[in-house]
Amino acid sequence: MISFPIYLDNHSTTRVDDEVIEAMLPYFNKIYGNPSSTQHKVGWEAEAVVESSRNKIAEILKCEPDEIIFTSGATESNNLAILGIALAYSSRGKHIITTAIEHPSVLEPVKFLAKNGFETTIINPEPNGIVSIDKIFSKIRNDTILVTVMTANNEIGTLQPVKEIAEHCVKENIFFHTDAAQAFGKIQLNLSDLKADLVSLSGHKTHGPKGVGILFMRKKNPRIRLHKILYGGGQEKGLRSGTLNVPLIVGIRKCFEIVCRDFEKNYSFIKSLRDHLLNGFLTFIDGTHVNGSMELRLINNLNVRFEEINSDMLYKRIKDIAFSTSSACASGKGEESSVLAAIGLSEEQIKSSVRFGLSKYNSFEEIDYVIQKFSEVIKDLRKK
Ligand SMILES: *Cc1c(COP(=O)(O)O)cnc(C)c1O
Repeated sequence: MISFPIYLDNHSTTRVDDEVIEAMLPYFNKIYGNPSSTQHKVGWEAEAVVESSRNKIAEILKCEPDEIIFTSGATESNNLAILGIALAYSSRGKHIITTAIEHPSVLEPVKFLAKNGFETTIINPEPNGIVSIDKIFSKIRNDTILVTVMTANNEIGTLQPVKEIAEHCVKENIFFHTDAAQAFGKIQLNLSDLKADLVSLSGHKTHGPKGVGILFMRKKNPRIRLHKILYGGGQEKGLRSGTLNVPLIVGIRKCFEIVCRDFEKNYSFIKSLRDHLLNGFLTFIDGTHVNGSMELRLINNLNVRFEEINSDMLYKRIKDIAFSTSSACASGKGEESSVLAAIGLSEEQIKSSVRFGLSKYNSFEEIDYVIQKFSEVIKDLRKK
């Protein structure tokens, strides 16, 4: 039995896992203390669960507990990493390198810096949606302080060579930050392996709650200094003031635990669903093209274009499937995808593109329905 609408917009957000909800509930009305209240047991209990969550997350990510800063989401983590490094190290240099396909929560702080005395280099990806390592390396200058490149793109799902970039930045003594909000849970993320200095993660892209995220900040010698962007009570070692959101921290821990526990199972299941969807489109719909590399791509992503079809027509005709044009952030503003433009697609090709983001809650039955529906509607549209 399919329950409608079929949800294929998991890059925008995901359904919260029932296990996650259950884990969070007691922390609203039973253990509701403020972890910073150090004078009594109600506060200690809350502090204990925050610290045990931090320990568990560190174990999963293969890092140290005190390398984890709890934030309100990947947006805040990205802002804190980029503005934090820029403001703390401007005396060392004022040049920052990033890519044209970053999430707005990376591109916007970078643009803000560009207007405020920093110099920025924004690198276009290759037509396959992957940034060239050589292009990035060739832009490094004496005054470069930060390179920020996402681990996986939220529109076309392409995986970036972050491991190589991170290693090169270590050699050059430049900070490297990566936005791994989409990647976590779909690739094995191991922070002892990946030499990044700063990594942003989000709860709600992996069946956790919205409004909670993590910034990993590597312990180094000398220590990384981040300039804070929130001023207040000095929580999270002064880097992120604000009362810790205990239920959401428990929620992000629980969803990370589930991701880790069920990784192999979900990886192969979701990949086979996605491949089935692609094969269906290629078999039944002439003029289907994949946007971006199929090999170096998140297993839950498909971004395709159908020749001579305007995606607006698809939304009008297909109401029982939740899919999207590009990122929720871009489409909310009525702008066309800058990611698709950056990989060289024409305006017409961009207009005929759609994005699917799959999850463990989808089924083969649903995918068969999607293939059938799209092929019917597209045949009909082409007749007119
Ligand atoms: C969703 C997303 C973000 C923003 O995460 P929030 O937790 O919603 O702030 C940042 N980067 C990427 C790549 C994303 O997909």
